Amino acid sequence: MRVILLGPPGCGKGTQAEVICKTFDIPHISTGDILRNNVKRNTEIGLSAKKYMDIGSLVPDEIIIQMIKERLLEDDCKEGFLLDGFPRTITQAESLDNLLEQMSISLDHIINIDVPDEDIINRISKRLSCANCGEVYNLLYKVPKKEMTCDSCGFKLHQREDDKEEVIRNRLEVYRKQTAPLIKYYKKKIKNINGSKNISEVTNDILDILK
Ligand code: AMP
Repeated sequence: MRVILLGPPGCGKGTQAEVICKTFDIPHISTGDILRNNVKRNTEIGLSAKKYMDIGSLVPDEIIIQMIKERLLEDDCKEGFLLDGFPRTITQAESLDNLLEQMSISLDHIINIDVPDEDIINRISKRLSCANCGEVYNLLYKVPKKEMTCDSCGFKLHQREDDKEEVIRNRLEVYRKQTAPLIKYYKKKIKNINGSKNISEVTNDILDILK
């Protein structure tokens, strides 16, 4: 199964992606995670991406498109994949269309999770991440057992630089201007989900579409 999950930052894409990928046994491809991993390892991509990520702007299309091309050609993507955080611009969506055509494959589902801006700011400002293993927590609904400590690896939790309120506001503006036009681009195939419900209700709504 080949799926795209669309939606503003903080709409729950990452959380829902994990469940979907487990259910259908497909790889979870998050461009944000790949970029953060590159930043952590100080690679060339990481060094050029960091300045955009820190202020909540989009990393240039060329970098992202090249990264996705390489990732989709890996063996584990043969039976399907879930794209989380990509595409984020019309140029990226057009490049993805070309790439899929070259690979003679097509998308099965495009799901858009929508959440109002104020809910997003409230959610993201309570989000904590582990810089070591990438696990994400939230003081509203996924509280770490020990304060500021990762349940999975014991590393200290932190707030991502781009989860601070002023950066979130920029990320939302960037989303509305550059990413929301994709809803129209994919209008023939897209299914809209109300992301303001609780996590398991949103999961059920998504699984109903995918099954
Ligand atoms: P995310 O974890 O998906 O919210 O992504 C974190 C940051 O990585 C974004 O705010 C962007 O700076 C960058 N990023 C992730 N995916 C993309 C993409 N498809 N295009 C451009 N920038 C991206």
